[in-house]
Amino acid sequence: MAIFGRGGILTNSLVDRARTDVLGEFHRAGIATGALENVRVDLGWVCLDDAYGYYEPDGPGVILLSRVTLARRGEYLGRSPWTSVRDVLRHEYAHALVHHHPACVAAPVFPRVFGALVDAPGPVGPWHPDLHATPYAATSAGEDFAETVMVYLRGAPPVRQGATVLRRKLGYVAGIGARAPARRGRRTGQGSRHAQVVSVGGTLG
Ligand SMILES: [Zn+2]
Repeated sequence: MAIFGRGGILTNSLVDRARTDVLGEFHRAGIATGALENVRVDLGWVCLDDAYGYYEPDGPGVILLSRVTLARRGEYLGRSPWTSVRDVLRHEYAHALVHHHPACVAAPVFPRVFGALVDAPGPVGPWHPDLHATPYAATSAGEDFAETVMVYLRGAPPVRQGATVLRRKLGYVAGIGARAPARRGRRTGQGSRHAQVVSVGGTLG
C-alpha cells in the first residue's frame, strides 16, 4: 500500500514475505540456525523513536517492527530513499546472530577486523565509504557488523578495490558459516506473530 512517497505502511503479509526471504538468504550464506528461525518478528503500530526496528535479546529473541515509524519521516515525504523491510530484517537478524552465536564475533579476530569488540559502545572512527558499508555502520562496532551483514546478504556489493578495510569486513561475514559453531536449522517457514507494540526500549536500529 503506497502512501505519500515511494514506500508505505508495513503490513503483516509484507513482513512475512520479507522474513521468509531474509531467512532464505541466511540459509544460503550458511548461517541459518534453529535459534535464528525461532526469533519472533512482531509488527506493532507506531514507533515514536528514530528507529526502523529493534532486536530484543530476551529468551529466543524478538525483532520489533512498526507499521509506521518516525525514522521514515523523510521517506514518507519522498525526500529519502526507501529502506526496505528486508534490509531492516537483515540488520536485526544480524543482531540475533550475535545474541545466539557469540562465537562468530569473538575476539581476537572480530576486533581486528571491526576495530572494537562487538558490544563496545560508540564509534570506532568517522564514517568513510571505504571503511563502512553504510553511514549508520560508523556508530559502533556492533552496528557496523549488522550493516555489513545486511549489505553482504543483498549480494555482490560493489566495493572499490582499494577499500581494503570494508572488503575485509565483508570477507569476515562471508566466512562466518565456516567459523561459527552454529548449526543449520530446519526451515520452518512459519509466519511471524504480531503484537501491537507502540514503542519499546532497546538497542537503537
Ligand atoms: Zn542495529
